[in-house]
Amino acid sequence: MKDCLFCKIAEGEEEADIVYEDDQVVAFKDINPKAPTHLLIIPKQHITSLKEAEEEHQQLLGKLMLTAKQIAADKDAAGYKLVMNTGEKGGQMVEHLHLHLLIGKPKQWP
Ligand code: 5GP
Ligand code: ZN
Repeated sequence: MKDCLFCKIAEGEEEADIVYEDDQVVAFKDINPKAPTHLLIIPKQHITSLKEAEEEHQQLLGKLMLTAKQIAADKDAAGYKLVMNTGEKGGQMVEHLHLHLLIGKPKQWP
């Protein structure tokens, strides 16, 4: 989608520290980390937020969770926190669905 920051990151038009990528998802470091490891996992397909997700996105939503699990396992994380802010009133600032993966003690709630 035009003028979407995370679409641009997914398309390589905007710089990001990418830690994982496949045909469906991209994971990159949050620019303002709220925990020792703070990654954002996004679908390459533009979905504005979970509010706009439909039945057809079920596989993709599961893929985000399993990608988080795999990245955390690769880092030998003993535990971690997943956050999906949804809608402006839910604290979502970037309007492209994303899953926060926080490993280590968070400094603040993202
Ligand atoms: P939200 O509040 O929408 O759930 O989270 C958006 C996250 O995106 C924030 O934690 C913020 O630090 C991060 N962020 C905003 N702009 C950029 C950027 O240009 N690059 C990266 N890597 N992260 C960003
Ligand atoms: Zn987008």
